[in-house]
Parts: sequence; structure tokens; C-alpha cells
Amino acid sequence: MEYNIAVVRGDGIGPEVISEAIKVLNAVGEKYGHTFHYQYVLAGGEAIDETGRCLPDETVAIAKASDAVLLGAVGGPKWDTLPGDERPERALLGLRKELGLFANLRPAMVFDELADASPLKPEIIAGGLDIVVVRELTGGIYFGEKGFKDTDMGTAAYDVEQYSEGEVRRIARVAFDMAMKRNKRVTSIDKANVLESSRLWRRIVAEVAGDYPEVILDNMYVDNGAMQLVRNPKHFDVIVTSNIFGDILSDEASQITGSIGMLPSASLADGNFGMYEPVHGSAPDIAGTGKANPLATILSAGMMLRYTFGLMEEADAIDNAVRAFLKEGCRTLDIATGDAAPLTTSETGDKVASLI
Ligand code: NAD
Repeated sequence: MEYNIAVVRGDGIGPEVISEAIKVLNAVGEKYGHTFHYQYVLAGGEAIDETGRCLPDETVAIAKASDAVLLGAVGGPKWDTLPGDERPERALLGLRKELGLFANLRPAMVFDELADASPLKPEIIAGGLDIVVVRELTGGIYFGEKGFKDTDMGTAAYDVEQYSEGEVRRIARVAFDMAMKRNKRVTSIDKANVLESSRLWRRIVAEVAGDYPEVILDNMYVDNGAMQLVRNPKHFDVIVTSNIFGDILSDEASQITGSIGMLPSASLADGNFGMYEPVHGSAPDIAGTGKANPLATILSAGMMLRYTFGLMEEADAIDNAVRAFLKEGCRTLDIATGDAAPLTTSETGDKVASLI
């Protein structure tokens, strides 16, 4: 099969980690008989330097016409003095909006070999961990009505949490579809004991669950969810939650894994379209030194194969190659232990590609 991928290399370590993900994708293409066509587009700081805008129209048009977007990272000190809406990071919000990316997927995986990097006790994460947080990305309190008003206690500020049935239904479907491809468990996290919007959330999630009889659904209040993530994280398979709760819980879940260089993410639109990127930023402090860990971007490319292209075996091949890399004792600097010399960014890509 042939697939068209719009690639934003971005700034800092972005181009370095993207090159390695592409090496690995090409190895997958060779082994399984697929051709990946890459169209390089500008966004972020590089786009500002070349076009004066962080998200040129051409980038949006090419991204929309592609099957998926793969993105390194954007931003850096060079552009830090620009006003907020002209900064490189604005390109990410623009892409989310233009591409209708309403579901953010953040897996938190603890590889057995990296268990030492987790701040949790070994007995809590023994045997590894594999959770996905599905966060609603375009609704809720971050996008609700906001403002100021006079009260007898002085000026008050407010932000409205609001969800429609349709918004909840579509994010719940993403979570249940994902659970069907995994361990068939969904935990919906809300605050239905207090919030009306959470009661609607819970009702719609239960309705959607009716269409997935094989999936076990449980509901949890967000305060308990935050506790259980560190007390009994193995309880979770797929977590589905609102924008603000997902913002907080996905960061908590990712910290369980201990290393930012290992964390992939996906943002999905209706249908199969998605944008795939590592969770980390452009790491200007190590750009150009060969120290960047490309595994988060390589794993993001694996998510692209799984969730946009439906290539399950090929996606497993990437996850397994990363696992084999770690099992052989290979490490990048950020996850290095013991005396073995860490591999550079490009040596890491070569090695993972060779393990496909
Ligand atoms: P960062 O994630 O870039 O770096 C935080 C720390 O983690 C740094 O010490 C860095 O060296 C290290 N690190 C990050 N990725 C790594 C990797 N792959 N391998 C090894 N070490 C890694 O966060 P920051 O320093 O807060 O932000 C730097 C720039 O990136 C800023 O301009 C910020 O706005 C931008 N940013 C972009 C994105 C994105 O494009 N999605 C996300 C976050 C931050």
C-alpha cells in the first residue's frame, strides 16, 4: 500500500528525531511492502524564519490532503520574545483547529527494562504498565465562555465547563474503539458527584458502552483517578476524560514512565486522520549534539501505523523493535544506566531500524 505523510520537522531536536522515525518507517515499508511518501512542510520557528508565519496556509493545505501528519517539535529561545499569538507553539493550536483534532491519545508505557526510571515502587509496576489516556481536546472549560463580572466580593473571573452530547459521544467512541484493539477496559473519569457536565458525560459514555458489549466500563471520580494512577496503575487500560482532567492526568500518567524521551502521542480527527508527535519539546539545550532520544518519535510513527493506517502487525513490529533495543541493553543518554556508552540519536535510529 501507499501512504502520504505530511512531515513537520520543526525546530531544535525536531529534525533529528524525525530523521530517525523515517529510517524506521522505511525499514517497515521495506519489510512489509508499503511505500511511505513524505511531504516536508513548514511550521513553528523555521516557518517564521522562512515565511514570517508560524503556520503557513500551504502547510495546512498539504496536511489536510495527506493521510497523516508526523511532527517533531516546535519552538526555541530564538522566538521566545515574540508576542504569544506569533510564537512557534501557536502552530500546534492552529493545526489542531484546522485539522479537527478532537481526541488526544497519550500512552504511558513502562518498559520492564526501564522500570528503574519510574518513581513508583517496583512491586507496583512489576511486569510493565500500558495505559492510554484519551483526552477530549477541543471542548470543555478551556474553550467555554469566560469573562469577568462584578460581585459584592469584588471582581470575579469565570470559565465555563460545558460539554454537548455529541462531543462526549465522539470521544467515548474513540476510547471504546481503542479498548477493542487492546485489553477491552475503559475507565471514564469525571466529577459526576459535583458537576452537571460530568453527569451528562457519564450518561453518554454509558450509552456508547452499550454498543461495545465486550468492553468493561467503569467510572471513577477524578480525585480517586489521580490516586489510583499511582496506587494501582495496573487497574487501567484506556482512560477517557475531559480536556482539563485529561491535561492533568496524562501528565501524571506519563511521569510514571520516568522518561520524557520515550513518550509518544497522537491527536485524532473524525475518521482515521491523525497527527503524531512526541510529547517532549524541541529541547534546545541538546539540539545538534546527538544526545536526543528519538524513541518517542519512533513510537509516535508506530501509533500512526496502528491508528491511522490500521497496520497492526507493522505497528507491533515498531513497538517490538524498541523493546528489543532496550532488552539488548542499548540506551540513549537520557535513559542510560551502568557503564555502557549511550548511543547517539542516529545510532539509535539505525539500531531500531535493523531490529524491524
Ligand atoms: P523540552 O521537552 O523540550 O525539554 C525538557 C528537558 O527534557 C530538557 O532538558 C531536554 O533536553 C530534555 N528532553 C526533551 N526531549 C528529549 C529527548 N527526546 N531526548 C533527551 N532529552 C530530552 O521542554 P522545554 O525545555 O520546556 O521546551 C523547549 C521548547 O520546546 C520551548 O520552546 C517549548 O515551548 C517547546 N515545546 C514544544 C512542544 C511541541 O512542539 N509539541 C512541546 C513542549 C515544549
